Amino acid sequence: MNHSPQFNFDNSFARSLEGFFKPCKAEPATAPKLLQFNHALAKELGLDPIALDSEAGLAIFSGNTTPEGSEPLAQAYAGHQFGGFSPQLGDGRALLLGEVIDTQQRRRDIQLKGSGRTPFSRGGDGLAAIGPVLREYLIGEGMYALGVPTTRALAAVSTGKHVYREIALPGAILTRIAASHIRVGTFQYAGARGDILKVRELADYAIQRHYPDTADAENPYLAFFAAVADSQATLVARWMNIGFIHGVMNTDNMTISGETIDYGPCAFMDRYSSSTVFSSIDQYGRYAYTKQPEILTWNLARLAETLIPHVDTNKERAIELLTEMIECIQPLYESYWLAGMRSKLGLSTEDILDQELINDLLKLMEAGQADFTLVFRRLSQALRGDSNSVRNLFKEPEAFDSWEVRWQKRLEQEDVVAETTAQAMDKVNPIYIPRNHKVEEALAAATNQDMAPFTKLLDIVSHPFDEVTGNEAYADPAPATNRPYQTFCGT
Ligand code: AMP
Ligand code: MG
Repeated sequence: MNHSPQFNFDNSFARSLEGFFKPCKAEPATAPKLLQFNHALAKELGLDPIALDSEAGLAIFSGNTTPEGSEPLAQAYAGHQFGGFSPQLGDGRALLLGEVIDTQQRRRDIQLKGSGRTPFSRGGDGLAAIGPVLREYLIGEGMYALGVPTTRALAAVSTGKHVYREIALPGAILTRIAASHIRVGTFQYAGARGDILKVRELADYAIQRHYPDTADAENPYLAFFAAVADSQATLVARWMNIGFIHGVMNTDNMTISGETIDYGPCAFMDRYSSSTVFSSIDQYGRYAYTKQPEILTWNLARLAETLIPHVDTNKERAIELLTEMIECIQPLYESYWLAGMRSKLGLSTEDILDQELINDLLKLMEAGQADFTLVFRRLSQALRGDSNSVRNLFKEPEAFDSWEVRWQKRLEQEDVVAETTAQAMDKVNPIYIPRNHKVEEALAAATNQDMAPFTKLLDIVSHPFDEVTGNEAYADPAPATNRPYQTFCGT
């Protein structure tokens, strides 16, 4: 039987936040085709995967049919882009179809990305090419499998239309799922207009949706700020723990929920270099790997500015309170980072010298041009009696030996059987990440209508910790000739 897809939309954003969006319809897709569909996520959302993996589903994911209960809209936001402020950005090529309550009672946004022009498109065409759509699908799902908070991909379709970048490319639409699409830039949108009441409305909405406990705090808006800062500090620490570089940490790409959003020129580092930048547009390295924690604080300070009138009627006092919070962000981030790094090294207790131990390893990796992901993964092999597999990743392997002695000594304090520690490490240090050359290979094939490499890679990065015989090529770094890798924002 062919049942039609039901969504049970409950559109709180449309209901509550007049002024933060414009209703808008998707542009028709001429010859839509389903490229990828996420059955497990559909189930988690309380949707019927069989009903959606169909012509009726395709019509929805391509924007050709508006499902019952959907109130499509483009959201307004502002943002600091590479430090410069734009008071009006907004969804220039995305539409929120609506919200559903998932099987775990969480409210989730369903959004089309690449579905045509909106009132916020400015000079843009509102479209997306297949490469960036599948890239967001793949890396987002990979991040999810790595345990990193992230928006997710429900479906990718090709539209049958051409999208003109430097050349004509097949157009595509991503159906994206998010805890919400509220950004630091959404607060800045109302803040920049001096619309204090609107900022308050938005804050009240975000509190109810994401941090309901803060409503009962002595100072709810200050507590809300602290909660966002905590989520984002956790997130950036997770990125740093896995060698992920977002690439465009503009304030419009930073969520209030603490999920990673807007996978554009992002990439995972291969050989460790603290100043790694992949994005071709990030000329000055503003969003380089080690800059990310600093930018975290900078972006949150922009959120704090919008909350001043709500934190205290006395402006000086409000600034004082928010500044105190802002000053806590780096230490907070560092504590999350350190906890993550400890578990990567198999440490479950704390020692005052751990930070030094970790930093010394990173320095050795940088000097030795060692692959970030593989060094951590292969450390567990050292505990199983094979130190060579990790030491050989360093240009001068001897440099690793004295560090290994220190680490093994530190592990003795833990009093845990080596194999137990090794197994715990293999659960936090991935073997498979979306390797840049593999991602490019898969996207190039998909652009030429061959989805097989993409599907295979998606499957592999969806199980990043489970080593599979035969998949060695997916664990290996890019051949040296592929360097330096560069990503482009043409999303
Ligand atoms: P992003 O680089 O994806 O974070 O986008 C920055 C801003 O540019 C957002 O307001 C987007 O909606 C907008 N934008 C990016 N690409 C396009 C496009 N092709 N058409 C219209 N707006 C776009
Ligand atoms: Mg964006």
